[in-house]
Formats: sequence, structure tokens, C-alpha cells
Amino acid sequence: MSLTLYNTMGGRKEVFEPILPDRVTMYVCGPTVYNLAHIGNARPVVVFDTLFRLLQTHYDKVVYARNITDVDDKIITAAREGNRSIQSVTEEFTAKYREDMAHLNALTPTLEPCATDHIDAMIDLTRILVTKGHAYESAGHVLFAVESMTDYGKLSGRSLEDMLAGARVEVADYKRHPGDFVLWKPALDGDPGWESPWGRGRPGWHLECSAMVRAHFGATIDIHGGGRDLIFPHHENEIAQSRCAHGGDYVRYWLHNAFLDMDGEKMSKSLGNMRTVRDLLQHYRGEVLRFALLSAHYRSPLNFSAGLLEQAQATLDNLYGTLREVQDIEIDINVPLADEPFYQALNDDINTPVAIAEVHALAKELHKAVAADKPRLKARILAAGSLLGILEQDATKWLQAAGAGEAIDASDIEALIQVRQEAKLAKDYARADRIRADLLAQGVVLEDSREGTRWKRGSD
Ligand code: AMP
Ligand code: ZN
Repeated sequence: MSLTLYNTMGGRKEVFEPILPDRVTMYVCGPTVYNLAHIGNARPVVVFDTLFRLLQTHYDKVVYARNITDVDDKIITAAREGNRSIQSVTEEFTAKYREDMAHLNALTPTLEPCATDHIDAMIDLTRILVTKGHAYESAGHVLFAVESMTDYGKLSGRSLEDMLAGARVEVADYKRHPGDFVLWKPALDGDPGWESPWGRGRPGWHLECSAMVRAHFGATIDIHGGGRDLIFPHHENEIAQSRCAHGGDYVRYWLHNAFLDMDGEKMSKSLGNMRTVRDLLQHYRGEVLRFALLSAHYRSPLNFSAGLLEQAQATLDNLYGTLREVQDIEIDINVPLADEPFYQALNDDINTPVAIAEVHALAKELHKAVAADKPRLKARILAAGSLLGILEQDATKWLQAAGAGEAIDASDIEALIQVRQEAKLAKDYARADRIRADLLAQGVVLEDSREGTRWKRGSD
């Protein structure tokens, strides 16, 4: 089965064909590590993690790089404001980023290159661009000359003038054209800096990604991703740098996720509606956040809200409830993915909402299935789950896990179930019913069956 992806370059869906038949390269712009990741930042992580999982079903080797931007003005400001070293800021937020993303079941990328480990590669690339006449030195800066590239702006599909009108570009008298962007800038006293042919300085943000791609993958990669806001200027400028340095193509497939809004409003610090992943994890399990992020197609805007999270929680509880019914069924079944509607949906430009709907359909089928059909249905649901990065936990543990602030712990519940059992044996049904009602009031549901009493947290 072929994989189809929407390529921002050209603006249409295309059948994915990597440069090499058995090895795929993918680079996704990662965080600037000076603060905690918010839930919007998690959207590309979860989307491209799902693509990473999908690609691995097609190709033996998938090399996925997600960089860490650990040199940037915002980091310098954060360090200064917090009266701490740059390194302590970047180390803290790199570690927290990795932890938060792991909670969302995002697999560790194959490579996590840090900008500061690639300064030589950045200087090298800048030197090539200067030599080829695409960049010039001015007032201690090295700038890329946008007019030196005939098709600058092809990704965003707008003229240079239109692009500049809508974007914040720094107008500076040392630039030949207002769209010229910084490759290398001088480091002020006390700022991080590296010796270069143009004096002590540091790289511009766009240069960092081009240089890291070049260092790890060479001139051309298969897939480059990030949020829509990166199309211009970041990705446009990466294309300019890399193509002008190498001559050939830079990226074969450009993928961009749409934005996540909070309760219908743009998330921003000034509106006070920023939600960090870390904060949300205090109230919801990572898998609930992931499920909510995958509930919309990645190219559609996603309206994030408490309601969406409650719905995601309820849906996952339901699916885990179904899996608990078949928990004891052993499965050793090979699921031919090509026949699976959820797999077909994912191969159609990562259509996660349709894939999730197919998982629901399988769960419904499993409820009604005769015993002989259950193992295969369970295997199919789990195969979908492992591609979507959900349903990989023990179903009983999921259903019995306490949410934030829940008082009664599992051992007390088990003890009360035991007391209730003894009351029933002594025919003290009033007491047994009271225990059931007390537990329900504390958000614990008992389910009696021939095998004994099971419990879960919930309200029905
Ligand atoms: P930044 O740290 O701002 O460079 O963002 C890191 C990644 O998160 C980039 O790929 C952005 O495009 C993406 N991103 C930032 N805000 C949002 C949002 N509200 N919705 C979706 N993606 C976002
Ligand atoms: Zn980048």
C-alpha cells in the first residue's frame, strides 16, 4: 500500500517516494529550550511521531531527527532574567521537554542534534554561501541576499513583498534588502559566541536547521516537518540556504501541522491561556492528551478545551474497558496491515480521525463477537493502537489508575470489596449494598461476574 502525504511545496497530496528505497530521512524542527513546552508545541511532536511509526511499517530504516535549539536570543534573555547560566537554562528545559514528550508516548527520535554541537557545520555553510555570492558581510553580520535566489518564496507561494508585509522582519540599515536574513551575527560581550572568519559571533536560527540537516543527512532529505507558522520565514530561509549551497533539491516533502487554539482563541502569554504540557499532565494522563491531539486531522485547526480532554478520557476508558473484557485472551496473530481500514486511513495523509473511528468500529465488533473471533479483533485493535501510540497499557491498570486528587487508593478498594464479599456470604445484603454505594460515591464502580468482582474508576 502506498503512503500519500500532502506536500506544502506544490500544495497537493502526493504518493510518498523516498530517495532511497529502503531508508527514509525525516527532520522536524524541535524546541528552543528556554521554557516549558505548551500543548501547541506538542501537536507537531505527536503528529510526526505518528508518521514515524507509520513509516516504520513501510521501510526498514527510518532516521528521524528532531533538533534542540540551544542558542538563541530568547535563551540569553531567560538566563539573564533568571540570573543563571545559559547552560543551566538549556539543560533544564531540554530534560523537561524530553520527559514531557515521553509522557505523550512520543518515541525518542533517532537523532536529537543540538545546535551548539554543530557550530563548525554552520560556519562552513555560511562560508560556502559567501563564496558563491549568496551571502555578504555587513557590520559584523553575515546576511543571506534574498535577491540572489531567483525562486525565493516558492514554499509559501507568495511574492517577496507579500511575505514581508505579513511578517516581522527586522529592518536594519546594514541589510541590502529588508528580506535579507541573518546567517551569522556578532556576539555581544558576555553572550555566547564562537570564533569565526567574521569575528566572534553566533548563528541565526534558520542556519542552524540547514546545517544540522546537512551534517546528518547530506544535501537532500525526504521529509521536513513543523507547524504552519514555520513555513515563512523559517523553512523558506532553510530552503534558500541549503539550495543555494548545494544546487540540488533540499526537501522532497514538506509537511506542516495546523495550529491548536485554546477554547477558540489563539494561545498566547498575554491572554493568559497558555497551557503547558507539564501542567496538563497534573490533571490528565499523557495518553489522554495524545488522543485529544490526534482527534483532528493534522492539517485542520484543533480547538483544545477541557471538554475535548474529558471526551478523550471517556473514549479511552471505553476502549480500555473493551480490552479488559478480553484481557485473558492470548494473541499471537499477525495482522495484515494492508487490509485494515485504520491503516488505509493513516496512509491517506495521516488521517487520524478516520483511523480512530475505525478503532471504535473494531471495538463495537469485539463486543458482539463470538469467542472464536475475539482474538483476531483484539489483535487488530492493538495493532491500530501501536500505530497511533495509544492502548498500549494494561487495561486493568488504566481503568483503576487514580486521577489527580482522588482519595481512595487501590488497596482500600480491594479491602472493601473483600468485606463486601464476606457480608454477602453472611447474607448481610444491606451492608454489601452500602459498601457498593459508598465506593460509587467515591468514583469506584464494581462489576460482579462469575469470576468475582472487578472494579474501575468512573461513574457508570
Ligand atoms: P516554537 O518553540 O515556537 O518554535 O514551536 C515549536 C513547534 O511547535 C513548531 O513546530 C511550531 O510550529 C509548533 N507550534 C507552536 N505553537 C503551536 C500551536 N498553537 N499549534 C500547533 N503547533 C504549534
Ligand atoms: Zn528548523
